[in-house]
Order: sequence, then structure tokens, then C-alpha cells
Amino acid sequence: AVKRTPFIAGNWKMNLDHLQAIAFVQKLAWSLADAKHDFADAEVAVFPPFTDLRSVQTLVSADKLELAYGGQDVSAHDSGAYTGEISGAFLKALDAKYVIIGHSERRQYHGETDADINAKVLAAQRHDLVPVLCVGETAEDLEKHGASAVPVAQLRAALESVDASKEIVVAYEPVWAIGSGQAATPDQAQQVAAALRTVLVELLGEEAAQATRVLYGGSVKAANIASFLREPDVDGALVGGASLDIDEFSAIVRFKK
Ligand code: PEP
Repeated sequence: AVKRTPFIAGNWKMNLDHLQAIAFVQKLAWSLADAKHDFADAEVAVFPPFTDLRSVQTLVSADKLELAYGGQDVSAHDSGAYTGEISGAFLKALDAKYVIIGHSERRQYHGETDADINAKVLAAQRHDLVPVLCVGETAEDLEKHGASAVPVAQLRAALESVDASKEIVVAYEPVWAIGSGQAATPDQAQQVAAALRTVLVELLGEEAAQATRVLYGGSVKAANIASFLREPDVDGALVGGASLDIDEFSAIVRFKK
């Protein structure tokens, strides 16, 4: 079997300005240094607001931190008359490696459709950013269609015409578990992650599908991270609320299987 490096990603959402971001990353640097000789071989990334990225870049490059970062969204367009939008080229120019695409809050509050999300995934690929594609069902979807149907449909739509030779990360985030304190069970997460991987085989081919990291997101905290990471198809976590608390996020980063 392929070894997939565990991935712990912190989605700050609309929290922490650039000064707070600097303070946070400085503290996180200590935990990362610790994590290295103590524990896991996880890759860690943070997703700050756009206005923080330049500060995060400066710290990461000055202190040579092993910390990746990315945007929480990206424009489907490369440049031009799109007021308020951020090009993938700008993220790349700040050495961002990743970009979150299709977060349920974007789908819900900004009306992003599967077609919009597909266009953003393609834009990320054009700029050599790794999309962290979020999929997940609402409580209503879960009741009507079961857990996998909606995430699988979202995955198919989002990955139409993608370049299978480029890295993609998929985050399974049941909407009912986000910010609710009610995480999915590890078994639920595993079942959907496995269903997503089956579709990835079809869409990207066996090799790329086995190399693709599938994350779980939704009320992940220090107390439950290890139980998710023990599942064979769950390769990490996308963490919202708990990524803003330095002690909690440090403990998550240092998870022990
Ligand atoms: C998220 O919004 O991506 C998320 C997983 O949030 P939380 O961890 O707060 O549930």
C-alpha cells in the first residue's frame, strides 16, 4: 500500500488579523519543532485570511518553518475586472502551496455551485496550487440519501477535466458536524472516505487515487484526532474552531496514533 503523509490543516475562517497571525505562528513554531522529535510525521498547514498571508510567508521563510499555508478560496479567473477576487497567481506569488475550495460556508453563504467549484479547482491547478476540495452532506441530505451520495456527487462535479497528474487533497466535511461539537464517528468518516476513494480511482486512476489524501473535518479536536487518523482511508483533518486555540491545535499536531 502507498504511504500517505498525514495532513493536519487549520482553517482559520474569518479570524485573526495579520498581527494575531504572527503571534500565533510564532507559538505554533515551537510545537512544530517539538512534534518533530517527539511524534508524528504529519504535514501541517494553516489557512489564514488573505490579508495575513504576506505576514505568514515572511515568518515561515525567515525562520525556515516546516509549515505550509494557503488561501481559503480562490477566483476561477486569472486576472481582470473581478472586484474583490483573489487570483491563484497572487497566492502562488506568496509561496502558498494549497487553497481550500468549496468549503460548505462558501457553498451556503456565497451560493457557490458545483460548476463554480470545478472552475476554481481548474484555476488552482493552472497556478500549481494544490486544491483542498471540501465535500459533505447536510443533515437533511444524510437523512434523505445517506452519508456518501452527496459528497460523491460533489466530488465528481468538482473534478471534471482535472489534471490527474497533479496533487489534490479531498476533505470530507459533513455540514452537520462543522462547528457543532458533534463530530462524525471515525467509522462514519472511514465509510465516506472509502467511498470517495473508490470514485477517485475511477476519475484519476488507481495510482493517483491511492496517493490522494482524504481528510476528515467537522468538530475535530485533540481528544478525537487520533481516532480518525487510525482509519485506513482517513489521512488527516481539516480543523476549524480548534485550529484557533494554540494549545488545542498544538496537541492536534502532535497526535499519536
Ligand atoms: C471547518 O469549517 O472546516 C471545520 C471543520 O470546522 P470545525 O472544526 O470548527 O467543525
